[in-house]
Amino acid sequence: MPAVSVRSRTTTTHCPYCALQCGMHLTAGQSVEVVGNAKFPVNNGGLCIKGWTAGEILGHPDRLLTPLIRDASGQLAAASWDAALDFIARRIEEVQSRDGPDAVGVFGGGSLTNEKAYLLGKFARVALGTSNIDYNGRFCMSSAAAATTKAFGLDRGLPFPLEDIAHAGVVLLVGSNVAETMPPIMQYFEAQQENGGKLIVVDPRRSATALWATRHLSLRPGSDAALANGLLHLLIRDNLIDRSYIRDRTDGFDEVRRTVAMYWPEHVERLTGVPEAALIDAARLLGTSPSAMILTARGPEQQVHGVNNALAYINIALALGAVGKPFSGYGCLTGQGNGQGGREHGQKADQLPGYRRIDDPAARAHVARVWSVPESTIPGPGKSAYELLDSLGQKGGVRALLVMGSNVVVSAPNAVHVERRLKALDLLVVVDFFLSETAQLAHVVLPSAQWAEEDGTMTNLEGRVILRRRAVEPPAGVRTDLEVLSALARRMGKQRYFPASESRDVFEELRHASRGGPADYSGISYERIEAEGGVFWPCPSADHPGTSRLFADTFPTPSGRARFHAVRHQPPAEDRDAEYPLYLTTGRVLAHYQSGTQTRRVGQLRDAMREPLAEMHPVTARLAQLCNGELMTLTTRRGSATFRLRVTPTIREDTVFVPFHWGGEQSANRLTNPSLDPTSKMPEFKVCAVRAKAHAPGGEGREGREGREGGEGREARPE
Ligand code: SF4
Repeated sequence: MPAVSVRSRTTTTHCPYCALQCGMHLTAGQSVEVVGNAKFPVNNGGLCIKGWTAGEILGHPDRLLTPLIRDASGQLAAASWDAALDFIARRIEEVQSRDGPDAVGVFGGGSLTNEKAYLLGKFARVALGTSNIDYNGRFCMSSAAAATTKAFGLDRGLPFPLEDIAHAGVVLLVGSNVAETMPPIMQYFEAQQENGGKLIVVDPRRSATALWATRHLSLRPGSDAALANGLLHLLIRDNLIDRSYIRDRTDGFDEVRRTVAMYWPEHVERLTGVPEAALIDAARLLGTSPSAMILTARGPEQQVHGVNNALAYINIALALGAVGKPFSGYGCLTGQGNGQGGREHGQKADQLPGYRRIDDPAARAHVARVWSVPESTIPGPGKSAYELLDSLGQKGGVRALLVMGSNVVVSAPNAVHVERRLKALDLLVVVDFFLSETAQLAHVVLPSAQWAEEDGTMTNLEGRVILRRRAVEPPAGVRTDLEVLSALARRMGKQRYFPASESRDVFEELRHASRGGPADYSGISYERIEAEGGVFWPCPSADHPGTSRLFADTFPTPSGRARFHAVRHQPPAEDRDAEYPLYLTTGRVLAHYQSGTQTRRVGQLRDAMREPLAEMHPVTARLAQLCNGELMTLTTRRGSATFRLRVTPTIREDTVFVPFHWGGEQSANRLTNPSLDPTSKMPEFKVCAVRAKAHAPGGEGREGREGREGGEGREARPE
């Protein structure tokens, strides 16, 4: 076990995992103990099992403690920092002088602090001069981000604090299983129910959250726009909309009204599988409540029509006059720890710090001044995340890639293809603290510090900027990501643009870069965050209180009004058919987080769920002659993967669910469809066509019993 030098003291900080960013006290002594921070007004002391056990990943025996370079025999071998950094700088120079600046790409992550996201974006544009930088947050909430920008003129996951949930009359929660993925948030839904509020959950699975809800609408995967249009049709028909709000604060309603007129309940029942009576009931609950809130998450968003799906739900919130009113409105539940801040400060292909557009001349001029570079040297928009991965090693594509804070071999769609593309690179550099599945393919691996070993700010799903504090010293041999970027910039002769590698100094620069932008952090300081328990952006000056609630009086659009968008239901990119007769949908489970690089190494979490379980309805399993606990092979047009079957009546008969936290033969993303939403470039993780058969070692799946006895082979094929 590597030696971890600890200060024997308690530090107030935050969880390393999801976007709730629960407050915790971390005591480092002989071991690392974690308890919830009862004074942090998000989790109020609550933590989930991932948070409770987070100390275990510090000082884990798998920690990387030295740089690794792939040697002539193909093995990763220990190397000095100087040797590794020199090697990287030399290879990048070779690639760029041969193939141009855009031949080097950067892939970041939604778990990186704001400071890292900022410096990574600057590193790509200033040190490398490449347009090709994007991050795994593109796979998280980019559809809702695009939709809210279109409708409201601004993307902040929740435009209100979580405490508003407790006072909402009705909440429509779409495609999110928060009872498992972020359990401390349930205190707000519990308070809402105690206050007499209602919760309607929309999900193809009767998830832990749906079991707990007042109503559950079990929609067919890929039918969100139809469901939302159907609800709005009923609200208009029954005169439950807010006509004065629509007149005074919005544009574009008439076209939406004409469009949803075609979504009468019987038709919507056919499209979604949700019974007409349940639709009418849900619309009545939404339309008669004094305060209605609509929250979406990855379910409707990770689809090829994800932006339209989010817009369709936003249309309901606008028609109800809910946006900008107390305890009401529309919000997106961001998933990754810094999914919010990570998309605001420049690691996205089309953005500059402060949530500025990279193709906006005024934004470019401002950031160029802060960076002390000519505006013309800042590259334009680059490839989105999957497009970037798809281009790896291709002629005219990216030939060298720096990955920081992401494990794309597990988390990207069409994972086998992505792995193949990574292997075609001239140079793959991975900065990580464990040898992830992606790091295992690298030419160079650089060991980095972890969450509790460095300072840095994160922005949680409410837009609240919080501060993680260094609680333990990093082990000897590792460097922070900021130190890695500064050292590489130095090797490339760009040191004058990267004078700082301390978080606080980088944050000061970020404040200037964000000044005047949509996500304005210029009034936020480390001192204020600590004194106030976090500060909501936008916060344009030191004496500004921060903005916990948005859109009360106006929208940041040219007209000051919100915009409706007429959208139609369209089938998923890949619908089920005779060959692939089921829908596959993917998601998270309580015990694991994202690609599992961290949580699969924590004993308690591993014991809680050692392998992914594929969920299938009993009727579907019976048709395929599959038994609970049996190994089953799922096959899509991209590949096959093997899972143990969990037979449960809590899922639709036409749908199979698989969690995505594992790699190799158990990787759900070997199966998923990389078709992209045309606006957000979000892959369609949530729905594709699949077939299921019992596992046969060496083959796709054994035939059904009748097949083996000479009859027709059986597989899961519901009506
Ligand atoms: Fe809180 Fe999320 Fe961490 Fe669980 S994983 S303790 S919900 S921040």
